[in-house]
Amino acid sequence: MPIDPTEPYDSDNIFARILRGEIPNETVYEDDRVLAFKDINPQASNHILVIPKGEYVSWDDFTKTASDQEIAHFIRTIGKIAREHGFVEPGYRLLANIGRHGGQEVPHLHVHIFAGEPLGPMIARG
Ligand code: 5GP
Repeated sequence: MPIDPTEPYDSDNIFARILRGEIPNETVYEDDRVLAFKDINPQASNHILVIPKGEYVSWDDFTKTASDQEIAHFIRTIGKIAREHGFVEPGYRLLANIGRHGGQEVPHLHVHIFAGEPLGPMIARG
């Protein structure tokens, strides 16, 4: 079920539990403010989720309430992870789903990195 991105932060969401170490994950990058790990149900040969460690429900919440420093660090880190994995050439895709129309399922901001193959049309119509 898509989440409502205007709801308060739910500290029992699955990514909060991953951050607390209650659920295992395949970490590919970690620092004091960001965690990146492999998606459990990959939609491309490389599918990484990048999340801030702060409690942000969605991209909307993050861009409204996080500090400029946090936002800059998060965005720079996504670029760094992609570079370190060799995704820049031949290319990759970023995606953040927000709310009902975006199809966001987990109420903790996450950016998807897809890579490793031609990624097809920008929006799937099914
Ligand atoms: P959304 O639809 O909210 O943008 O994407 C949520 C993503 O989280 C999905 O791609 C889903 O496969 C992934 N996911 C859900 N639960 C877990 C989990 O427990 N571990 C990992 N690694 N990924 C998860």
